[in-house]
Amino acid sequence: MRPEVLTPLFADVSVLPGIGPRLAALITKTAGPRVVDLLATAPTGVIDRRLSETIEAATPGTTVTLKVRIDRRERPEGGRRPHKILCSDETGFLTLVYFHAKEPWLAAQFPEGAERIVSGKLESVYGGLQMAHPDYVADPRELCEMPEMEPVYPLTAGLAPKVMRKAASAAVERAPALQEWIAKGLCEREGWPGWREAVRLLHAPRGQEDLSARTPPRRRLAYDEIFTSLLALALIRNRRAAAKGRALVSDGSRWARVEPTLPFALTGAQRRSIDEVRADMARPSQMVRLLQGDVGSGKTIVALAAALAAAEAGAQTAIMAPTEILARQHEESLRDLIEAAGLQSILVTGRDKGREREAKLAGVKAGYVDIVFGTHALFSEDVAFDDLGLVVVDEQHRFGVRQRLALTEKGTRTDLLVMTATPIPRTLALAAYGDMDVSRLDEKPPGRQPVATIAKPTAALDEVFEAVGRAARRGEQVYWVCPRVEAEDAGGLVAAEERAEALGAYFGARVPVGLVHGKMPGPEKDAVMAAFYEKSLSVLVATTVIEVGVNAPDATVMVIENAEQFGLAQLHQLRGRVGRGSKPATCLLLYKSPLGETAKARIETLRRTDDGFVIAEEDLALRGAGDALGAAQSGLPRFRLADAAAHQSLFDMAADDARLLVEEDPELVTPRGQAARTALYLFERDAAVKLLKSG
Ligand code: ADP
Ligand code: MG
Repeated sequence: MRPEVLTPLFADVSVLPGIGPRLAALITKTAGPRVVDLLATAPTGVIDRRLSETIEAATPGTTVTLKVRIDRRERPEGGRRPHKILCSDETGFLTLVYFHAKEPWLAAQFPEGAERIVSGKLESVYGGLQMAHPDYVADPRELCEMPEMEPVYPLTAGLAPKVMRKAASAAVERAPALQEWIAKGLCEREGWPGWREAVRLLHAPRGQEDLSARTPPRRRLAYDEIFTSLLALALIRNRRAAAKGRALVSDGSRWARVEPTLPFALTGAQRRSIDEVRADMARPSQMVRLLQGDVGSGKTIVALAAALAAAEAGAQTAIMAPTEILARQHEESLRDLIEAAGLQSILVTGRDKGREREAKLAGVKAGYVDIVFGTHALFSEDVAFDDLGLVVVDEQHRFGVRQRLALTEKGTRTDLLVMTATPIPRTLALAAYGDMDVSRLDEKPPGRQPVATIAKPTAALDEVFEAVGRAARRGEQVYWVCPRVEAEDAGGLVAAEERAEALGAYFGARVPVGLVHGKMPGPEKDAVMAAFYEKSLSVLVATTVIEVGVNAPDATVMVIENAEQFGLAQLHQLRGRVGRGSKPATCLLLYKSPLGETAKARIETLRRTDDGFVIAEEDLALRGAGDALGAAQSGLPRFRLADAAAHQSLFDMAADDARLLVEEDPELVTPRGQAARTALYLFERDAAVKLLKSG
């Protein structure tokens, strides 16, 4: 249960004074639906509203605050003309301008002869100074609601700056005092304020420098996010280690039959990973292990070795892929090896219907089938196993912390091996999967030639068509990736449908061209993919559906159109689709010129290196500050104030801190532990709390 003290923060923003449903909807759009979301929305600017000395000294083009005397109001003569209010001080004149204002209101606001403080954008018009619709007008004799330094928040159409600022400030007022969860020494050493004070300071910048990600309050709040993320994962991990699992002790007999039949020798990294996985499976606690390896590093064979080890221990394995195409490909590529091991495998997909499906599932339930291939739907559909011992999940970026946790919670004590090709920068690795043990395939199979990577402006399309023709004549295959499916939704980007047509028209029957995209019905998609693997298609035009894992050894050319639209990691994944055989391969990045700086740097990085880990680090650096670590696809939790570039060192500090806390107080019952519990709820990393004894 969330602590009572946090309740006001998790209320809807409409509880704030002056925020009705309409404004609440707008605030939701820019900050989020709840008070706590407003707290986490940092100002992006600050306006200095301190009183300027004189009209003469004020700078046109800036926001100024002036004390003036109202000399005269000018009513407009024509219908459309604005109202003008002529003002002055000892040094000069200023005209306030109002469009569509009502005379009685103006008369009340600006009585002739009175003094007023006005604040707004000063403009120089025909040599005179003007201020149109001042942001603030105040009577100097009365208390003014105008802040000296006004924070500026991200806005959305229809949401006035003043409304947003008031809402944020009301949210800050609701922030309760909380017990400190950061180790005392750390706060002192870093000069960090407590949480409530940090929130207050975040929303009260005194100047531009307070907007930086490196101020103490901002660092403290970033630390809170990072620390709670890592703490949650450390708790999950700790709980799992304490719980009883099942020891799958293997004797290597099945694998011994298979390994000699492989057409290649395993890499050192594969050997090491297989050993790590087997040793982990043999332990009596549940295995939750990540196998991290770049595209083409040979993860599949490690999965097979694990499945055979499970079979040696008498248990079944489920191998799950994110798409049916991939599941099918895994099944097909491993079937012979599985048979050689004297085992049975099947593929279960959503498309199996009726009798056939029943027969398959019956085999799984009765235990005749040793290895079941399918999509992640195997989890949800009630596929019953006789004795499931191991689950292998391919491509973990669609398999986040919550799903991992669900496995632990269900009381399923099956061992879990998650495979990912998403290289994560070292700094972020713990935040993404600190609850898992990691095996790394950091060595590629030998004999791979690096993919020659060439960037060209789209204008060079003719050359590219010719290169495609040449590859096809050599009996090689080509992937052609476009960012969009149809011309209508393409927004100026190249559409796959059009490109497929153009290629078809260009080559005629000589070079068969296929099209595959995510909007196609599954069976149709599979049929096209199958045709490409069987080599009855030479060119496969596709959207990024081909990004994940599929394998066509004769594909040697990867064309990516509008490459400037793709992220670095994504381009790297796409490039990994080619160069999987022994023939030299090429990746052609077509871009719309002129290329922006970031896009240029991305393409340069790709040309320079083929190492997924280097690319991940550079991707992070290029995304840089400001782009919070939202990267949903890397499986990271959401960070709002933590910034991977600016806050690198905080990740290491938080990792140590979280581990220590869990060691000293695994149930979070000490005063600091209790405070940390509250923090887990405050930062919404509380899924792990229910694993605690008194959760
Ligand atoms: P990924 O890690 O991207 O899933 P795969 O397991 O699909 O990679 O392997 C890519 C290709 O490399 C496959 O054709 C596979 O047979 C081959 N392969 C795997 N291990 C080796 C190795 N040690 N030596 C040579 N080729 C290998
Ligand atoms: Mg793979």
